[in-house]
Amino acid sequence: MINLHNHTTYSDGDFTIEQVVAAAESGGVTHVAITDHFETAKVHSLLSAQFDRYLGEIREAARRHPGVHVLAGVEIDTDRSRCDLERLPIDQLNRLDIVLFEYVDDDGSTLESLEPLLSQLRPRRGLAHMDIERIYFGQDPDEVASRFRDFGMFVEMNNALPYRRHGVPFYELASKYYEAFRGRVGVSIGADAHHSLEAVVHLERPHRFAQSIDLMNDLLFARE
Ligand SMILES: [Zn+2]
Repeated sequence: MINLHNHTTYSDGDFTIEQVVAAAESGGVTHVAITDHFETAKVHSLLSAQFDRYLGEIREAARRHPGVHVLAGVEIDTDRSRCDLERLPIDQLNRLDIVLFEYVDDDGSTLESLEPLLSQLRPRRGLAHMDIERIYFGQDPDEVASRFRDFGMFVEMNNALPYRRHGVPFYELASKYYEAFRGRVGVSIGADAHHSLEAVVHLERPHRFAQSIDLMNDLLFARE
């Protein structure tokens, strides 16, 4: 059971890194990522000047909780009016394990315009809480899969309430796209937890969905 999207008090979350990691470990999560908002005016966010302390706390939590793999990440806002994408500290980003991008191909930036940044990044990078069915409406799922693969992006199944329509998560509404990702595009599961430690561990729904369309082998870190 993986959960690769969580916020802490370094951005707009209510709990510390230690609290999130401890909850993940006791709840049986195998891989947990801390992914605070980074250098965006959208919300209270992690700043470059705090980066060393942030990464140090994540690595320290990993040492204290050997029962769960702890990954360090951030979430990047691709709306350029709020985040100066050209001035992000690449050296810092390259010390992380994963980088999430939000609002891609939607209210934020296109994948093409992100390419100068993406080409410098070594960590695994993924698309957070994407409303695939709406954004690529009418497009061939195979073409969307090729697009994500060509840009080296994994795609998240986000379990949080804001990313649902009529109570149905965006990833379930886009099931024919997720079927096309099998064997081609990495998929991830994220709680996007901010205000609840329960949310960190209750990810049965996306895991059941991944099983139902035979995506378990495409889950990030499935074999690690
Ligand atoms: Zn988030």
